[in-house]
Amino acid sequence: MLCRVPWSGCSIMDFSSILSDYTAAIRAEARKLGFAACGFAPVGDVPAGVMASWQGWIEGGKHACMSYMERYGEVRRNPAMLLDGANTVICVAMNYCPSDELPQGHPRFAYYAYGQDYHELMRERLGELAAFMERMTECRNRVCCDTAPLFERYWATRAGIGFIGRHTQLIVPGAGSYFFLGEILTTLSLPSTQPVAGSCGDCRRCIEACPTHAICDNGTLDTRRCLSCQTIENRGGLPVDVIPRLGMRVYGCDTCQQVCPYNEGALPTQEAALQPSDEMKELSYERLKNLSREEFASIFRHSAVKRVKYEGLMRNVNALNPALFEPRDKGTDEPSGNA
Ligand code: SF4
Ligand code: SF4
Repeated sequence: MLCRVPWSGCSIMDFSSILSDYTAAIRAEARKLGFAACGFAPVGDVPAGVMASWQGWIEGGKHACMSYMERYGEVRRNPAMLLDGANTVICVAMNYCPSDELPQGHPRFAYYAYGQDYHELMRERLGELAAFMERMTECRNRVCCDTAPLFERYWATRAGIGFIGRHTQLIVPGAGSYFFLGEILTTLSLPSTQPVAGSCGDCRRCIEACPTHAICDNGTLDTRRCLSCQTIENRGGLPVDVIPRLGMRVYGCDTCQQVCPYNEGALPTQEAALQPSDEMKELSYERLKNLSREEFASIFRHSAVKRVKYEGLMRNVNALNPALFEPRDKGTDEPSGNA
């Protein structure tokens, strides 16, 4: 860990070398804390094109029931409003790619929901990284993990972590898209990381594989159709045209990421907290159908699944087609999770 340094008396050369030492120390600490990537971007206005795209998405109603996405446009435009004196956005990414899928033939939960709730885990680790920075030098920090109105994928691209794919997720070149993103706004003025090169090229696999055609050609997502949004964010009934598309999905959907060539070499996470519990592995269709409120509270108390509440999960379970979970003859392929 670096010592606190007095700013006065430093030459410009010393000063820039100190800042580079800080970024190296923050990166090293981020890696120790389990973040696979860490980058730095100067705080400032989000480009007009990004704001216009967000505005068009909202005005077109594509944010569906997520009305919170409509608010705080000014803060989204400039995250300096989130922390007085903010100079840098530090972006980090944590791998959640599972080493094993849930058992074949069981209802599918999105990979990110296999282990501990990422809000808890990321907040804890980001808090540790911020504390490290505060021990290192004088600064003020604000930790964000889905807790502030930030265009986090845009900031991740600015901080050189990756690029945004057609499925609208951030792709970390060489590592894929199964990543939780988090940010620390800091008063430290740190050298920025160069954006990485990368693009989807001619690929359209995610657009073609999406069971509900929710991925639009202009690089936006129509969440009114997206199974991830419908099974998690929708507090009402599932739309009738979405129900036949659920397949075996009971919480979220990974299809557009599963077909992405950038995920072909994705390495599994080493994070023990992101592995599914034994109880989660036992959630067959029959078990879920008969799940009590108390069992839901116990199994999912530290899981992202609690977001949907007992009623939401049971709504999804009851919408599944039971025929998909009937035992197969020996030698017959199990139904795919993306059926
Ligand atoms: S999460 Fe599923 S439904 Fe949503 S865009 Fe991706 S493939 Fe389509
Ligand atoms: S599947 Fe193809 S088009 Fe979609 S995000 Fe991955 S590379 Fe891009």
